[in-house]
Amino acid sequence: MSPPRTDLAELEVGELEGALDAQEVERFHARQIYRWIYKRGVTEVDRMTDLSRTLREAIKAEFVLSTPRVVADDRSVDGTRKFALELADLRRIEAVFIPDTPSMTFCISTQVGCAMACGFCLTGKMGLVRNLTAGEIAGQVRVLAAATGMLDHPFHIVLMGMGEPLHNYDSTMKALRILHSERGLAVSPRRVTLSTVGIIPGLERLAREPLMPNLAISLHATTDAQRTALVPPNRKYPLADILEVCRRFPLKTRRRITFEYVLLDEVNDTPEDARRLGRLLNGIKSKVNLIPLNPAPGIPYDRPSDERVDRFAQILADRHITVSVRKSRGRDIRAACGQLIVEGGTKASAAQQMALLMP
Ligand code: SAH
Repeated sequence: MSPPRTDLAELEVGELEGALDAQEVERFHARQIYRWIYKRGVTEVDRMTDLSRTLREAIKAEFVLSTPRVVADDRSVDGTRKFALELADLRRIEAVFIPDTPSMTFCISTQVGCAMACGFCLTGKMGLVRNLTAGEIAGQVRVLAAATGMLDHPFHIVLMGMGEPLHNYDSTMKALRILHSERGLAVSPRRVTLSTVGIIPGLERLAREPLMPNLAISLHATTDAQRTALVPPNRKYPLADILEVCRRFPLKTRRRITFEYVLLDEVNDTPEDARRLGRLLNGIKSKVNLIPLNPAPGIPYDRPSDERVDRFAQILADRHITVSVRKSRGRDIRAACGQLIVEGGTKASAAQQMALLMP
């Protein structure tokens, strides 16, 4: 059997140059190939028409190009589009295009399923099936940008789809480097937001990254007892430790950490919760993003009334905390936060999931 071919989708531009070198192909072709894949959205080597036929054949002999395949494209009345994507091993993930937020945004997955098991999130009910590769993470952006006509336009990326990005650290960061390449989509890290439950070793590595995305912390509760009940990793990485890392987190000028807070009716949405949240964030350059729960079957919580949401927001605003309420997008097509799930995901055992949580 011949050795497996290298996947072009998994390579940073420097790695592609090295791989071409090794095949005695001129390294400058790496830039051309990158341009075809990322700027033109081409998914087949045969369509890279400024490479000679001989060169294309040589490349096909040594490399493949894997691209997530669109198997469904649901459109919401509000313009949001939810894509179901099939990977090379036939596993499925979801990624969402959210227009006019005011920017154009792609919400991208980092894992098939998720091991975090947050009590209000449907993806958490699936358990973790597997990590995505860097090529599969960056591939979602390629596919969505091509499908929505955005390859030549600026857009934002939020790592808020399925999965916990800091639980798949290396592939997530490699995907950001691939997307950052000037030869490709040239996505600046300022246009990327990484959302996490707060896995501390991951946050500490992130603080040293040369390519640092914006940071969003999924807080959701103001006491350890309540947070552990809602966001189980809190048992290992409690509130005070996460906030301490945030306090020390190196932020560029005028940057702030976003704290996401899902509002669950009569659970974590009381005036005392709001006041405690204000105190916890003392001394951290922060803004708060309130997310009224997107309810779903099997989720044992309700969405609070607009009055309760407004009262919570007002208490924070009175304390001079910047607060926004996340408008729910694409709820009619189950594309909103916490509603991404793929039918038929095989659930990893609890023991497997705990093992994965260990650094
Ligand atoms: N694992 C990462 C990113 C995925 S979720 C994280 O937890 O941050 C993106 C955001 O949607 C998180 O803040 C998550 O807590 C929130 N979310 C999950 N389920 C939700 C639901 N049913 N309604 C509203 N927001 C939800």
